[in-house]
Amino acid sequence: MSYLSAQEIESGVRRLASAYPEHCRLVTPPNASVEGRAIVGLEIGAGGETAIIIVGGLHAREWIPPDALLYLAADLLEARQAGLGLTYGGARIAAEEVAAIFERLTLVLVPCANPDGRVYRQTVDPDWRKNRGGSAADACVGADLNRNFDVAWDFRRTFAPDAVSASADPCHKYLYVGPEAASEPETRNVVWLFDQYPRAGWFIDVHGAVPAVFHNWGLDENQSTAPEQTFLNTAFDGQRGRAGDGAYAEFIDAGDEVELARLSHLMADEIRKVRDDDYAVSASFSLYATSGASDDYAYSRHRADASLGKVLGFVIECGHEFQPDWSEAEAVIREVGAGLSRFAADIAGRVPAGSGQGAVAF
Ligand SMILES: [Zn+2]
Repeated sequence: MSYLSAQEIESGVRRLASAYPEHCRLVTPPNASVEGRAIVGLEIGAGGETAIIIVGGLHAREWIPPDALLYLAADLLEARQAGLGLTYGGARIAAEEVAAIFERLTLVLVPCANPDGRVYRQTVDPDWRKNRGGSAADACVGADLNRNFDVAWDFRRTFAPDAVSASADPCHKYLYVGPEAASEPETRNVVWLFDQYPRAGWFIDVHGAVPAVFHNWGLDENQSTAPEQTFLNTAFDGQRGRAGDGAYAEFIDAGDEVELARLSHLMADEIRKVRDDDYAVSASFSLYATSGASDDYAYSRHRADASLGKVLGFVIECGHEFQPDWSEAEAVIREVGAGLSRFAADIAGRVPAGSGQGAVAF
């Protein structure tokens, strides 16, 4: 066994969709990748409207997440079919919990959101992070998809100088934000998922490798007392992203922050049961300030447009290395499986039984 190729991830997703038609359906976001590859996902469950969106592989050099999400899908489907639970080391999801996930939720999984990057990193440059965007006339290729989302995207305007982990230079190997917000088809596919599943209340973007579980915000430190300090307020442009400065911190609903922390700790605690590895829990900003990141985009949508539902945003930074040996990768894959299935079981446990469509307050 070893890491799967982008092609194997895609065919694996399609094979699961055809093998378990009663329990999942193929998800086909509308945009092919820059180089024309299909990006596919799975909608797991009985069709309940309450949904969790989980994405992997936005950063190509972080090799584990696409494999981890495909294996999680296979584990869940196999367990459901057999009426069994799931065991990852010392972590256990009971059979009734697996059943509840399927009966009450829709899990939307897109294991490999940046297949071009995965092909490039597997055939040319193992350190490749971005997509393969840009025209042939461009001197440099690719944008950092996790800086390309429409939340404080124009960091030169919205952030304090040199405060944020982002670059306007197309030749920056890691952090180029792209020519405009959501310029990249791979980014727009993730946006499409939010539009397609308006009852999705949770978004988890799986990356590597810290290890840690992060939650909103990444823009700046969290605060719940000054609601005017938000990414929408241009009066604070040029001030965002500095730690401990007292000038600006990002407003977050106090109840949301409690729930974000609760669910993050729930995942970290379950992950610890697998092999006693310690995933730190904190707001994304504790790593560094980010503009245009997927988790903050998820949680920004209802603030930018009050007609949209609230989506809590999380990042799992799995494992200790981008590309460990396969035996280590397998252990990290079990950790991701444990954390995400526990997360889903918790949400399923709070959706009213039978309806599959009940509202979950958070
Ligand atoms: Zn990453």
